[in-house]
Amino acid sequence: MKKKVINSSRIPVYRDSGFELYNADLTAETFRKETEHEREPENYIYSRYRNPTVVSAEEEIMKLEGCRWALLTQSGMSAIDTAVSVFQLGKKTKPWLFFSEIYGGSISFIESVLKKRRGIEIQYFTPSGGTYDLTELERVLASLKPEFVYIESISNPMLIVADVPAIAAIAGKHGCRVIIDNTFATPLLYKPLEDGIDMVIHSVTKYLSGHGNITAGVICGNDDLLMRSAIEYRKFTGHMISPDDAYRLQTQIQTFNLRFSRQCENAAILAKFLNDSAAIENVWFPGLSGHATHSVAKKIFGNRGFGAMITFDLKGSDNAEKREKRDKFIANVSEIIRLIPTLGDPHTILMPVEAVWGAKYPEPGMIRLSVGFEDYTAIEKTISEALEQL
Ligand code: PLP
Repeated sequence: MKKKVINSSRIPVYRDSGFELYNADLTAETFRKETEHEREPENYIYSRYRNPTVVSAEEEIMKLEGCRWALLTQSGMSAIDTAVSVFQLGKKTKPWLFFSEIYGGSISFIESVLKKRRGIEIQYFTPSGGTYDLTELERVLASLKPEFVYIESISNPMLIVADVPAIAAIAGKHGCRVIIDNTFATPLLYKPLEDGIDMVIHSVTKYLSGHGNITAGVICGNDDLLMRSAIEYRKFTGHMISPDDAYRLQTQIQTFNLRFSRQCENAAILAKFLNDSAAIENVWFPGLSGHATHSVAKKIFGNRGFGAMITFDLKGSDNAEKREKRDKFIANVSEIIRLIPTLGDPHTILMPVEAVWGAKYPEPGMIRLSVGFEDYTAIEKTISEALEQL
């Protein structure tokens, strides 16, 4: 995306829904080329297909993930829909294998859209003892022969880190593709495409945009055929991000590394503090040596951090007491740490896990924190005072 207007240093917001094609010959030629599904066409036609501001924001993500293509969509869910639907081939569709510890909205999409409406054969792979048994995974892949396996690099909300290079090697042996949701790890901690993963998706709503003011998703990859299929699917389903959101993303993403590394630093210190608190039963954070996937996290993230999500469980003699303490804790921190059911915001925010996911995570004292990039001392002071008051 090298075209510049006057002496502006950035690509502006091109809000055109349709682009001028001047004459019938150019129109015919451009529509003919359109069927080749290039990410950056010579001439643009219509913003639902492709848009120059969107292409320019995609280039920022390609630099971060170190990949050959990135396609922005209007939400993380539409990125997931696009990535998996590329493999749907009518009656020829093979089974799809999903890790069970993934975002609740992804599970709802699988159940309500993929299984109930599209009739796709879906299997889940569940962890045992807080980690994934890869010998068992190999057995499942050998017998089920799925088209792809779908995982999250860091799962939500138990923060299980998947041994992605090992999973990629096993999947490769069985001719199975791998799709990974890298939202919690981000390219700062880990770039799955370097380990041969087929497609990476992100909820850009979270760390990549990072200010709680854009809803967007992205699919990244290196394989041209997958890119062309994904472009075609995005075009026909209208899963396209708006030029305004793409422009703001292109700006906000410039500070991604700074923001996320600070969030990871804050989270690592806070996790230790929570782990030492007498008011807390358990802390789940992959950077703690007691976490079931700490060694996997060290192996794949190196010394870059362990993410900025922490889940913890308040102590209580029974469920009623735990619920009461949770509600008090939420009220005590609410001036500074808001209950906002998302993650990746600039400030630390929280979510009561049982209230959102009920039966799957029935512990009433469980709270998920998305740690922000504000001054660390303010976070610890707020939490430590709230815990003391319990
Ligand atoms: N993937 C993960 C890990 C998420 O946490 C979410 C949303 O919370 C999504 C995907 C869906 O993203 P969006 O809300 O942008 O559609």
